[in-house]
Amino acid sequence: MNKLTITDVKTILTQPKGLPLVIVKVLTSDPAIHGLGCATFSWRYRAVEACIEKHVKPFMIGRDPASIEDIWQSSMVNGYWRNGPVLNNAVSGIDMALWDIKGKMLGVPCYELWGGMSRPAAAVYVHADGKDKHEVADRARAYYEQGFRHIRCQVGGYRGVSWEKNGPPPGAFPGQYCNPKEKLYLVPELFAHLREVLPTDAELLYDVHERLAPIDGVWLAKALEPMRLYFLEDLFAPEDMGWFSTVRGQCATALAMGELFVHPGESLSLISQRLIDFIRVHPSDVGGITPCLKLGHLCDSFGVRTAFHGPCDVSPVGMAANVHMDVHLHNFGIQEWAFRSELEEAMFPGLPQVREGYAYPNERPGLGIEIDETLAAKYPCEDKVTEWTMARLPDGTITRP
Ligand code: MG
Repeated sequence: MNKLTITDVKTILTQPKGLPLVIVKVLTSDPAIHGLGCATFSWRYRAVEACIEKHVKPFMIGRDPASIEDIWQSSMVNGYWRNGPVLNNAVSGIDMALWDIKGKMLGVPCYELWGGMSRPAAAVYVHADGKDKHEVADRARAYYEQGFRHIRCQVGGYRGVSWEKNGPPPGAFPGQYCNPKEKLYLVPELFAHLREVLPTDAELLYDVHERLAPIDGVWLAKALEPMRLYFLEDLFAPEDMGWFSTVRGQCATALAMGELFVHPGESLSLISQRLIDFIRVHPSDVGGITPCLKLGHLCDSFGVRTAFHGPCDVSPVGMAANVHMDVHLHNFGIQEWAFRSELEEAMFPGLPQVREGYAYPNERPGLGIEIDETLAAKYPCEDKVTEWTMARLPDGTITRP
């Protein structure tokens, strides 16, 4: 059998629903075999495109697509300085595509390449957001009745509800004003209400989105302990990770962390010291499937479960990769789920489907997902300044979004 070689790499930019998506297509010397990967960094997608087209692609042409480990490792060191969201996403696009190709070459779904299924489907959590605790409860109950047992509940999203009450002082810069301190009274009240009105087996989640001052985060985790959360997410920013040992010593609220991680060193101490319960990385932001499988196995040794990031800035190709890893990894915990539009379903045939709270991969070889490039080309990405990341405190200070 002649060895396959990589003959071309295409970067496909498309925006079927709100956010720019970056899809990588790796072509091979066999016209019948290509692979798809996710390189989506929605808010700096042009930088990822340039990295792939100008640096990664020339490095790939002529290589053996079966050498996934060597290609991942060499791509990571080829620019000498490594990691970071732009390079990691570029490498992820290639890496996922190579696993897709490997599955297609062997005629098996990707999860079979890694040791097979630990479960037939991945439990997912959905988002119930509302302007007050009653609206959140109504939406959470509706999801529960559809079969979803894991529900993330937020009052007013990440921004909260009191930002309109007090305007910023004269002369303050424009931005998305918020008052993080409101979480200290609104969130315990929300979950106390949800525990009263929802069935006992509803699993509830909350995302702080790194918006609190660290000591307020410690207070919130303690206040929420009686509400038995499935997990409390991003209680601290990556820059404040030293606070995890403080909160861990004071309460048993389950903690999820890592959606902003882009360097393997960021997760190592949290996992090895058992300071978190769920690793939340965004797979394309850490470099694709290859590092995520290793991270998953590391976590397994320390009783930490996976909860890969999965909102709409994970492309449908990235979500297919997530679900393949979810059904395989023994220590899988939960998969965040974003509902896709009809257009996305049409643009990405083979998207994993959700039924009664579980996401199912399909049985096609590789990642089991394709892209209709003609349709994708009809929805070009919009170049505009990102506004939701301009979060400001009541006095006008810029803060983490
Ligand atoms: Mg989050």
